[in-house]
Amino acid sequence: MSNLVNTKPHAVLIPFPAQGHINALLKLAKLLHLRGFHITFVNTEYNHKRLLKSRGSNSLDGFYGFNFETIPDGLTPLEGDGDVTQDIYSLIQSILTKFLHPFSELLTKLHDSAIVGLIPPVSCLVSDCFMPFAIQAAEEHELPTLIFNPCSACTFASTLHLATLFQNGVLPIKDEKYLTNGYLDTKLELISGLQSFRLSDHLPLIMTTNPNDVMIKYMIEVENKSRRAFAIVFNTSNELEGDAIKILDSMFPSLYTIGPFVSLLNQSPHNHLTSLDSSLWKEDTKCLEWLESKESGSVVYVNFGSITVMSPEKLLEFAWGLANSKKPFLWIIRPDLVIGGSVVLSSEFVNEISDRGLITSWCPQEKVLNHPSIGGFLTHCGWNSTIESICSGVPMLCWPFYGDQLANCRYICNELEIGFEINTNVKREEVEKLVNELMVGEKGKKMREKAIELKKKVEEDTRPGGCSYMNLDKVINNVLLLLQ
Ligand code: UDP
Repeated sequence: MSNLVNTKPHAVLIPFPAQGHINALLKLAKLLHLRGFHITFVNTEYNHKRLLKSRGSNSLDGFYGFNFETIPDGLTPLEGDGDVTQDIYSLIQSILTKFLHPFSELLTKLHDSAIVGLIPPVSCLVSDCFMPFAIQAAEEHELPTLIFNPCSACTFASTLHLATLFQNGVLPIKDEKYLTNGYLDTKLELISGLQSFRLSDHLPLIMTTNPNDVMIKYMIEVENKSRRAFAIVFNTSNELEGDAIKILDSMFPSLYTIGPFVSLLNQSPHNHLTSLDSSLWKEDTKCLEWLESKESGSVVYVNFGSITVMSPEKLLEFAWGLANSKKPFLWIIRPDLVIGGSVVLSSEFVNEISDRGLITSWCPQEKVLNHPSIGGFLTHCGWNSTIESICSGVPMLCWPFYGDQLANCRYICNELEIGFEINTNVKREEVEKLVNELMVGEKGKKMREKAIELKKKVEEDTRPGGCSYMNLDKVINNVLLLLQ
């Protein structure tokens, strides 16, 4: 290896082992690589196999200085081909108890390879905040850690108030009945600037009466470890979440908004990494051809991400709501979306939608959202989907399922005003009505204008001289200073 390469800074990046987290952190890895970093990207063995399978390849290492490594996830292997999202609770339990040792061994291996000159010495760890063991491993190896928070800043602001909610006796929830009797609709005035938030928007992961719930332990561990990093970065921008960021700035001196990554990458000159993607399912690109046959802004894109599951009954409500709206739609039904296995849609439904609806199992979402035929996005409000929609100027119909999605939905509908919320207990009449309102109604038209305006503003943040662009420079300079 030449001396020039040996002097490169080397970042080791580790995402939480789920699709949205891997996608976002891979984008950050690309941004660092384009700015001269040697990259080691660490997936679990399970996800690595899925990445290889989805692209029918034996190796992911297509670029010089951009390497992939794996660690085991400690879970029992799934039967069959294991082409499904793993159980998040099992993963979290494993992360809390089984990931530290193999990750620490990997850091030792990288250290040994650097000593014999095969790779540059590791300069820093870039860890998903939901992988708290990684910070401990980095400390043991005397490496600085940069934390990446893959959620919105407003979700993080909520998480930081957990301790207060425990002190005030709001948590843990006293009675299971509180989950259904409207108590969770109570508005919290804890966070100035985010007054429209409800108790349920803050606490989706810890709505429990059990103070020893593993999720509570995990969230506290995530928060404690995040505070030990030299800096924390978000895939968001000041234009998008100014209020939440103001609150966080006063609590975290080294907090940087460096997103949306997708927009920064789109504007990066000489980006030779575009073919390096991270889909865990094989993408159907034929849907892009189908979109070509549709009028501009006419198609509703429906996708609930990689983790959401629903009952067959709910799926049917969405199906008939979409069919009855009479609007063209592209619907991604993941093989493991429906609880209890695959659902068979009746021939009556198939005849009804004929050429107007296309259903497939996984798609290149960013390309779909940027297609001129797309006019609206029915989404579960994962943070990646939310920013990808904003970066494409597409307004949303929101059906949040879990975790930060509830807060994101609240933010999209009430603060940004670029979406309508669909009731958790979804009914076909509501879907039909809101699809029509979004696609051809007056309110929908205003939302589309707002979404396009927001897209332009967010792009400004990621151009040279923009806030996110300069923040990325600052973070990189911080890493380089630590190396001197
Ligand atoms: N995605 C995709 N194709 C699909 C569905 C999802 O490429 O058919 C990508 C999407 O672009 C996003 C990620 O998967 O980057 C999903 O992340 P998000 O945070 O929106 O939701 P999650 O899957 O974590 O619930």
